[in-house]
Amino acid sequence: MSTTNINAVGAVASTAPMQNLTINRRAITAHDVEIEILYCGICHSDLHAVRNDWGGTTYPIVPGHEIVGRVTRIGEHVSKFKVGDLTGVGCIVDSCRECEHCHDGNEQFCDNGWTVVFNSPDKKHGGITYGGFSESIVVDENYVVRVPEPLDLASAAPILCAGITVYSPLKHWDAREGKNIGIIGIGGLGHMAIKIAKAMGAFVTVFTTSQVKADDAKRLGADAVVLSTDGVQMKNCPKQHVILDTVSAKHDVNAYLNLLKVDGSLVMVGLPAEQLPVGAFNLVNGRKSFSGSNIGGITETQEVLDFCAAHNITADIEIIGVSQINEAFERLEKGDIKYRFVVDMKSF
Ligand code: NAP
Ligand code: ZN
Repeated sequence: MSTTNINAVGAVASTAPMQNLTINRRAITAHDVEIEILYCGICHSDLHAVRNDWGGTTYPIVPGHEIVGRVTRIGEHVSKFKVGDLTGVGCIVDSCRECEHCHDGNEQFCDNGWTVVFNSPDKKHGGITYGGFSESIVVDENYVVRVPEPLDLASAAPILCAGITVYSPLKHWDAREGKNIGIIGIGGLGHMAIKIAKAMGAFVTVFTTSQVKADDAKRLGADAVVLSTDGVQMKNCPKQHVILDTVSAKHDVNAYLNLLKVDGSLVMVGLPAEQLPVGAFNLVNGRKSFSGSNIGGITETQEVLDFCAAHNITADIEIIGVSQINEAFERLEKGDIKYRFVVDMKSF
């Protein structure tokens, strides 16, 4: 089987706009599936990585890690998928498969380092991985999930990152009836967190800097809305068991530690490039925790897709063509999206 040259969209420098590129996909090996990419969501992590906000970006970079597509070819030992299946690929495309975390289904904590779908050295096949802003992808079947039939394909794509990233901590920190769960930021992750926490039965309070989004939050399922720029609303907010922080930029986490109940946790999933100072008094007074969570494992990614199908949850999306990715990045940076861009990858 030969390698394939395909169309992709990526950046050649942190200051360069996204542009059309030709990339090479490896030939499928015995356990691989080849997937024709139909839709790919745009996560703020794609923007952080392209702009080199976190350092370490290798150029050219082809981002995209909320991938939904159809299987077009399978390797001879593939047992989980057949040609024509509707599948998803998220952030993780390989891991050591031997450490305790891989055994526990937490590949995102692999002791030997997992392979990210884009901009990651490919330990097995060499080179750097290229993500979902492309026509097709080749992935080991063990890192591919199934998109359940009833889900709309385009609006299901964000479940592959935004969905799993909020589902995993909400489950871990036991979001359910009787729990006050706060969500900070109504972006791609935040709006999925509102829907998922609500479906888990929690009382959901959302914190936003945007009056326009505050007006929309109840439609998304929030029970209460706090405009975080309004000191009176913040002061009067009931205490929360858990607050999930999805903010992509520097902000004051101490204001939210003060809104936790005794033994409450502020859980970071947002990845601002800047450090976030934490006051010791904000933690010790009430035995509070400041913690974090990183996407979720492959089994749990399948679980959140099934959960969303069972609860009729998908993302609120704006579908764009490949040629609109630069404009979408600019709007994402300004917070001008309700609530996730999804690229129609058939528009090359
Ligand atoms: P997004 O759609 O841009 O949403 C981020 C939200 O943060 C915005 O909608 C805004 O909400 C709020 N915000 C932005 N700047 C702010 C500021 N200066 N002060 C206060 N609030 C601000 O981004 P996303 O795709 O949801 O991703 C969010 C973050 O999670 C990113 O940093 C991303 O890299 C990270 N992430 C982490 C993981 C993980 O595994 N841990 C996975 C995926 C993404 P309001 O307008 O409502 O205030
Ligand atoms: Zn993401």
